[in-house]
Amino acid sequence: MINIFEELKDMGFENLEKIELFPEKEVSNEIENKKGKRVTLEEVLYDKTYVCPVCKTEFKTKAIRSGKNRLVNSDLDLKPEYDIANPIFYECIVCETCGYAALSKNFSTLTTSQIRWIKEKISSVYKTYHYEPIIDAKSAISRYKLALLNSFVKKAKDGEKAYICLKLAWIYRELKDAEQEKLFLSHALTGFENAYNNERFPIFELGELTTAYIIADIYRRFKEYDKAMQWISYVILDKSISLRLKTRALHLKGVIHDEKKIAENHHIE
Ligand SMILES: [Zn+2]
Repeated sequence: MINIFEELKDMGFENLEKIELFPEKEVSNEIENKKGKRVTLEEVLYDKTYVCPVCKTEFKTKAIRSGKNRLVNSDLDLKPEYDIANPIFYECIVCETCGYAALSKNFSTLTTSQIRWIKEKISSVYKTYHYEPIIDAKSAISRYKLALLNSFVKKAKDGEKAYICLKLAWIYRELKDAEQEKLFLSHALTGFENAYNNERFPIFELGELTTAYIIADIYRRFKEYDKAMQWISYVILDKSISLRLKTRALHLKGVIHDEKKIAENHHIE
């Protein structure tokens, strides 16, 4: 290798041949937060203990310390983006002993019949599997699909299945897998519309109007602008709407309107 510091030899700087002027950036989990303090993924995560309601095994799984993880952005359909750890990845809890999986919010809530169905249809088939403690998009998908299968077996409400499908769509969006994203958005849409007509809200943290807002945006993504407009108008006209959701809804209405116009002009040409 040529020593670009040849001229400095006389000053005592020797063996500089190996200096790599532009080294490849080290891949690091460290991210500088606002105060300039470096926070690592490991610092944001902690071990949370669960007891499986099906097989009674006690196990630990990673959870997120919310204070250290900052929301930096969100998509039109409210898919959040955080600076350090993706909370969606850690929302699904899996018992690796028996194969029971559910969202953290209702992991412990099962009826006697549901426990029986899961033992019969999941645990009897399930072969012990081990997930890495730090969850990436790929293993998050596997965890959510196990939760989706469990939700089907335990005869969960449509709202719960739709919620899991929405999260799956969002993870596929991160992986830029448009086809799978669309598939799970369409399942989420079916489930949320059923829930709208037959179930009580909230669905986990999603209130009635927030769910309607998400339905409107899914229709927009499917280019069904009239339905998107119906749902978003319904959200905006509701008197109980929060100012925050109303601001978002008015913005989404504008986006739907603009995209509809573009689509119509395209049609004319
Ligand atoms: Zn278990």
